[in-house]
Amino acid sequence: MSLLLRAERITKVYTNHRALNQVSMAVPEQSIFGLLGPNGAGKTTLIRIINQIIGPDQGRIFINNELLKPKHVRQIGYLPEERGLYKKMEVGEQALYLARLKGLKGEDARKLLKGWFEKFDLMPWWKKKVEELSKGMQQKVQFIITILHRPKLLIFDEPFSGFDPINVNLLKEEILKLRREGATIIFSTHNMGSVEELCDHIALINNSEKILEGDVGEIKKEFRSRIYEVELETTKDLVERLAGEHFSIIGTKSQNGFVTVRVKIKGNATTNELMKELMPAANILSFKELTPSMNDIFIKKVTGKFPLETLENNKQGSAGT
Ligand code: ADP
Repeated sequence: MSLLLRAERITKVYTNHRALNQVSMAVPEQSIFGLLGPNGAGKTTLIRIINQIIGPDQGRIFINNELLKPKHVRQIGYLPEERGLYKKMEVGEQALYLARLKGLKGEDARKLLKGWFEKFDLMPWWKKKVEELSKGMQQKVQFIITILHRPKLLIFDEPFSGFDPINVNLLKEEILKLRREGATIIFSTHNMGSVEELCDHIALINNSEKILEGDVGEIKKEFRSRIYEVELETTKDLVERLAGEHFSIIGTKSQNGFVTVRVKIKGNATTNELMKELMPAANILSFKELTPSMNDIFIKKVTGKFPLETLENNKQGSAGT
């Protein structure tokens, strides 16, 4: 697996705050990499260092195994969280101006831009002033400008905030297409759910430190919950059946005459053993392991406890009803 970007023990201290503490990170080529963590964790600081807007106090960044240099700026497309276009300028004119700044030549830039404007239904706005566009439209224009020169690394800070679901899907499709065509993408967000399905690698940042990094599939395997949600027809002696050291009932919920039970399997006990206990008690309607979301994994990593270990509404019913 070749790495497009590698950060090596990056530390950054602002006047009286350590924003990054020895953070390392490896972004595989053509991956979609989620840089995830709460507000204030240090994500934007790291991204600004990658973009050479600020320098680190310690540590190094490599792009394609080469130490980060000014020439790399051109190879990175960066959509910052604070987006700003000049409000009084015409949309098309401004897009052309920004495209030229990225090294695209006049007619090429115009042709490319028009293609993207058509795709994103922005063409009728070409001659309008930026201030006449909705926030979402302005964001679309900025997205286009970020990707227009086909940089091999794309960095999107909070990419989907401010977009409606239809436009989020449109952007997600375009981002997947860019990846298929060779780009490597870094998302930075506190909203883990918004990018989870897209990311194949992630790094979790909390309080200036990296607390977890890796392939999403492997992380999900490592953080298997071993919590099963079972839907049953009425249960008689469920609590008694599951008493003992192998299982613990997290909660139960009755709805429409069915009972949903959340059970954690402990130690070396198996799902078959759980089934064996449940089968004589009632018909099993469904049986599934709960897969933790990245948000659950983050909480587990920070607090030691899975949010899945509680069943919402578990006061509505109880086992045996
Ligand atoms: P995130 O992007 O994860 O929300 P940031 O990298 O923006 O986090 O910020 C990390 C921490 O560094 C925050 O506590 C923030 O207040 C602080 N910080 C960011 N930029 C500056 C700055 N220019 N001067 C001082 N403190 C800063």
